[in-house]
Amino acid sequence: MGNLKQAKSKDGKLMHYSIGALIKKDGKYLLIDRVKPPLGFAGLAGHIDEDEDKIQALKREVEEESGLKIDSYKVLFEEEIDWNQCSMGIDVHYWYLFECNVSGEIKQNYIETKSIGWYAVNEIKELKLERVWEHWFKKLNII
Ligand SMILES: [Zn+2]
Repeated sequence: MGNLKQAKSKDGKLMHYSIGALIKKDGKYLLIDRVKPPLGFAGLAGHIDEDEDKIQALKREVEEESGLKIDSYKVLFEEEIDWNQCSMGIDVHYWYLFECNVSGEIKQNYIETKSIGWYAVNEIKELKLERVWEHWFKKLNII
């Protein structure tokens, strides 16, 4: 892994940039059970590297974590979140959340995920979600 794209947050703290991919098919959402902190069920997501843009990061992370290819995408929103510590101990992340259509066969990434699968809304409500994904599912009025 190269260096991560970073900057100073509104409060002057070190901030990483990240992408998240909300992927829905037949009324279900694609979620992984994360191996690395922050733990919990989450959509596909990851840091933006220093030498890539958000679209390159989106395509790379989705393929790394699921084996799937992105056919189309749009940004749902972007926001700075300051309560979202990553495994490197950085609290602030500037997130781009995308909605994506994908194709291909799921290949589980056993290093980063305990499981990967499609979940209906009533199932998502019962899962222990990673906090930032709980925030987005609520913000989007999905749960
Ligand atoms: Zn980070």
